[in-house]
Amino acid sequence: MKRVALITGINGQDGYYLSRFLKSKDYDVHGITSCSKPGIGEPPANCYYCDFAEGSNLNQILGTVQPDEIYHLAAQSHVRLSFDIPVYTAEVTGVGTLRLLEALRYYEEQSQKKIRFYQASSSEMFGKVVESPQSETTPFHPRSPYACAKVFSYWQTINYRESYGMYACNGILFNHESPRRGEAFVTRKITKAVARIKLGMQDKLYLGNIDAKRDWGFAGDYVEAMWLILQQDKPDDFVIGTGETHSVREFLEAAFGAVDLDWKQYVEIDPQYYRPAEVELLCADPTKAREKLNWEPKVSFEELARLMVEADMKLTQQEKIL
Ligand code: GDP
Repeated sequence: MKRVALITGINGQDGYYLSRFLKSKDYDVHGITSCSKPGIGEPPANCYYCDFAEGSNLNQILGTVQPDEIYHLAAQSHVRLSFDIPVYTAEVTGVGTLRLLEALRYYEEQSQKKIRFYQASSSEMFGKVVESPQSETTPFHPRSPYACAKVFSYWQTINYRESYGMYACNGILFNHESPRRGEAFVTRKITKAVARIKLGMQDKLYLGNIDAKRDWGFAGDYVEAMWLILQQDKPDDFVIGTGETHSVREFLEAAFGAVDLDWKQYVEIDPQYYRPAEVELLCADPTKAREKLNWEPKVSFEELARLMVEADMKLTQQEKIL
């Protein structure tokens, strides 16, 4: 019998890579998306619509899919945007997880089946970091409505594990990028602009705080860690990152450098991209993941910037022809 996986947020970057990965492991993959287009037609096969701000059909979806593993990736995941829509972010990114955990608890009781649950926790929870690098024991200090909502979901996940003995785990993933990253995130915003500038379609790139530092890895590497987390004998929480930190400036250097341009000639600072509270530095200590999951990232920082620029060059060239 094929194992059945249910991925929430299947239309996002991680949903894409995780689906591919699980299919390569011969899973039967089902997904939940909120990107409904009413009136346009039936949802694609194995795909269900649910808005986590509401979630009233979750019981029904669980009953239909009968999953063995659930990967909860759905969220309002943009930090800057979460300051503009904090209550909606709390509903989707915070209470949405609770809605799913509660539906799952009911489903487990009814079906007498044990399901493995993965919560997409975030390095943003470390926020104003109290130590560096950050590990599983580092205290949280969230700095945005998004991060506060993720802290809520993190603790709900642990509380369901401890209260009901559920197999529920947190993967605390540091920033992970790819050509499928949303265009409002800084890496993709940069690589898209690099391609457009190189092809003569844009002159300037406007950014906020370019001194911020992040631990950036490749999303394709990180979905394997999600899966490994759910394959352990006991449910547990893991930090997933590279252990290296780089500034936005360094990413600019690498991305513009990939097409032999000097970023300083094109980048301007626009305070509209500053955040009311900033996370200045994130750097993972992924020792536990290395030792217990035997997980290591494969794509380096330079390779990541280059592969994203190359993908955006191809896409933008096609756009130009059309
Ligand atoms: P985050 O770590 O989840 O907030 O991921 P982002 O890619 O959105 O942002 C990473 C860092 O880049 C943050 O510290 C931002 O303040 C900084 N940054 C600087 N300029 C920009 C910009 O124009 N857009 C975004 N999204 N981030 C920017």
